[in-house]
Amino acid sequence: MYVCGMTVYDFCHIGHARVLVVFDMVRRWIEASGYKLTYVRNITDIEDKIIARAVENGETISALTGRYIQAMQDDAAALGVLPPTHEPKATEYVPEMLGIIQELEANGLAYQDPLPNGEAGDVHFSVRGFPSYGRLSGKSLDELRAGERVSVADGKRDPLDFVLWKRAKPSEPEEAIWASAYGPGRPGWHIECSAMSCALLGRHFDIHGGGADLQFPHHENEIAQSEGAMSPVSRSPFVNLWMHNGFVRIDDEKMSKSLGNFFTIREVLERYDPEVLRFFILKAHYRSPLNYSDAALDEARAGLTRLYTALEAAGLDTQSVEARQQASQKALQGASEGASRVGLAFKVAMDDDFNTPEAIAELFGLAAEVNRHVAAKQDKEAKATALLLLGLGSTLGLFGQSAKALKQRGHGQTQLDALAIEAAIAERVDAKKRKDFALADAIRADLLAKGVALEDGPQGTVWRYL
Ligand SMILES: [Zn+2]
Repeated sequence: MYVCGMTVYDFCHIGHARVLVVFDMVRRWIEASGYKLTYVRNITDIEDKIIARAVENGETISALTGRYIQAMQDDAAALGVLPPTHEPKATEYVPEMLGIIQELEANGLAYQDPLPNGEAGDVHFSVRGFPSYGRLSGKSLDELRAGERVSVADGKRDPLDFVLWKRAKPSEPEEAIWASAYGPGRPGWHIECSAMSCALLGRHFDIHGGGADLQFPHHENEIAQSEGAMSPVSRSPFVNLWMHNGFVRIDDEKMSKSLGNFFTIREVLERYDPEVLRFFILKAHYRSPLNYSDAALDEARAGLTRLYTALEAAGLDTQSVEARQQASQKALQGASEGASRVGLAFKVAMDDDFNTPEAIAELFGLAAEVNRHVAAKQDKEAKATALLLLGLGSTLGLFGQSAKALKQRGHGQTQLDALAIEAAIAERVDAKKRKDFALADAIRADLLAKGVALEDGPQGTVWRYL
């Protein structure tokens, strides 16, 4: 699975939080279902906005992007998003991008026309040479062309042609310029994703994801590039399944900096626990629009607290990563064998295009059942039901902290967030499995420095604040 990641020149906003959380949910469900998954989420670290911001700040491009890559990874960890298998940076794949451009040129799909002053221009993709252009977004070439302005000055032969390689401009910093057969320059944004996905997943792979705003033109262009680079006689679909998550709106309005209703993940986490934001995102179907408002976040907090309170009441509060993994495996096994009606309903919902709202409704049903058993002093039944709740919720990346921590926090959290700690512990468990003890020790030392102690026991690793 390849997901278009962030362009790193500023802090991530809640639209980015949705992409991160939605595809983390997809990843967790695919893996929980027993499939082996390679998950690639790229980083765009060379692009017009990045260059402009670095020049404006008077810093190098790598200083700017390095800082925001770290901030993005911290935000993702806070939201309980596991690190992808590969997180390639565009600047590390420029030779692969040039390789695809050369293949496109050989197939008659790329051209470099001179500028009016005779200098070499940008390299463009020739859309008219790729007749199925527009298929993903369901638009014909004529319809798409009607919306485009015709401009001859930019060296394009057709208004829909898009740039593959941008020639260097004298005002641009050295760091933004690569040598190539087309002259010094840098890649266009679209070719970055074709090169990174092909390099890490091959020319044909299963799932490609991203925000709905990327379907046209970004993903349409990726298809044209990746398939266009293949030999015309053996051209096959680049991706089996395209998945696009819906837009985020704020108080029923479009989120935009000019409207003043633009929130970074950090701003939201100053007021809400990160797991509340994760839960809020997962309560909606990934394809639906998501409307952010304080009332909706308060409702998510109340709902999540209700689930935690049921776990706490049954004596199942604060579980280790391994205990949660075991509970998940058991819950899904019970579902597959037909032993658990709720487990099966949860699985059917998730298998039906990741229907998280219905899956979460099943969790609320379980919490009510736990509470009924607790009230009737049926401890064994209460615990068994709570274990199912814990197991199923864990497949969505929920329940990474204690009910007490969730209730205490929500305002002015300064300590390292529970979900970030859990993500670090999961990484350490993984490192130990691979016998990378140096990394495991480094993760423990890093957490200790941040005021979090780990204790390894027969039930797995538990953590506490110092
Ligand atoms: Zn992309």
